[in-house]
Amino acid sequence: MAADGKVIADGQVIADGRMLEFIDARRDELVELTRELIRFPTINPPGEAYQPCAEYIGRRLRSKGFAVEYVRAVGAPGDDARYPRVNVIARREGAGPGPTVHFNSHIDVVGSGVGWTMEPFAGLVKDGKVFGRGACDMKGGLASSIIAVEALIDSHPRFPGALEISGTVDEESGGYGGVHYLASRGWFSPPRVDHVIIPEPLNVDRVCIGHRGVWWAEIETRGRMAHGSMPFLGDCAIRHMNAFIGRLERDLYPRLGLRRTQMPVVPSGARHATLNINSIHGGQAESAGYPAPSVADSCRLVLDRRLLIEEDMQDVKGEVRQLLEQLVLERDGFHYSMRDIFEVLPTMTDREGPVARSTAAAIARVLGHPPEFVCSPGTYDQKHIDRIGKLRDCIAYGPGILDLAHQPDEYVVIDDMVNAAKVMALAAAALLHGTA
Ligand SMILES: [Zn+2]
Repeated sequence: MAADGKVIADGQVIADGRMLEFIDARRDELVELTRELIRFPTINPPGEAYQPCAEYIGRRLRSKGFAVEYVRAVGAPGDDARYPRVNVIARREGAGPGPTVHFNSHIDVVGSGVGWTMEPFAGLVKDGKVFGRGACDMKGGLASSIIAVEALIDSHPRFPGALEISGTVDEESGGYGGVHYLASRGWFSPPRVDHVIIPEPLNVDRVCIGHRGVWWAEIETRGRMAHGSMPFLGDCAIRHMNAFIGRLERDLYPRLGLRRTQMPVVPSGARHATLNINSIHGGQAESAGYPAPSVADSCRLVLDRRLLIEEDMQDVKGEVRQLLEQLVLERDGFHYSMRDIFEVLPTMTDREGPVARSTAAAIARVLGHPPEFVCSPGTYDQKHIDRIGKLRDCIAYGPGILDLAHQPDEYVVIDDMVNAAKVMALAAAALLHGTA
């Protein structure tokens, strides 16, 4: 790291000191940039205001000497003339050969929901915080990375390699129009890119090295309709589903509770394999406020299973199917179908890899204590960079407080953004100079 004069030339140590001063001097600019980004209501779904937000980022970076490209994910889910999936990628070449360091942020946010005590898209500043939907997840992180990279360029004008910043869409809905689309087309693969930092809100002193996997599936049990006054003439699909839920309770939940991962997932409750029943729908819908007087012929349940890195996706699906197959043998009239909705494998990078190591060293220097290495309970775009881009050297690091993501009155602490920008700038400088 730059603090060690034996490892690097004195010139870089001086430049690093100047870089941190530049970031302190741009504190107000960092706040204003965050507010401007929050004011684009990039709500997903449906994918509101993506294009103006991407163009705002592109205009700013073009004025700083970046080559800017806009990539619309034509044909991606939700992409149409009203809601174009527009991504922005900006690249600034350095003075000589070297690696490329990329900061990737999603620009989409979830809907504001209820419970706000202020306007969610105004970017209110109060008590050392910027408030608004996306302040924490993750426009504060995006703004920090932009200020970090600009300060790096201004203080190390002859930096080697290249710097990239992207603003991508649809992370909140799986990333298909964003990082998935770009990674499928080589934007996140070596040799174009070598190291990626995703400024997701994992807290200013944590390095997030991966995430658990996901399997969403819909299970349907079927029955036979009859009049509700004579249920013995039909076969109730809801009772069949109840039998399945009973097996989950009896057989699967205790097993999952015993499975613990070596991944440093936070919060620690998520170090077990988990299963949520997301929804259940059975029988006919009410009509004019009256429930249908019939035996249910169908019941559908959506489950959300989160996988540990030690688990195998086929085994995870197989143990649910086995419970269903047992019921076929044991229960008269039990018929079911199972449909995959969505799946992502767990991912975890090496904490001794260059990007994790340089970020950890930068956190120790800026904050005065060593970082915590964590994994995320839910997924984010690292999965696409790893699986599709085949780029392993990727982490999430950003200033937002994890628990505030998607909450009403979401905010980001201004001091955290300034510190995160310093960490990002130091880490990027070390990666570019090959001193990580
Ligand atoms: Zn996010």
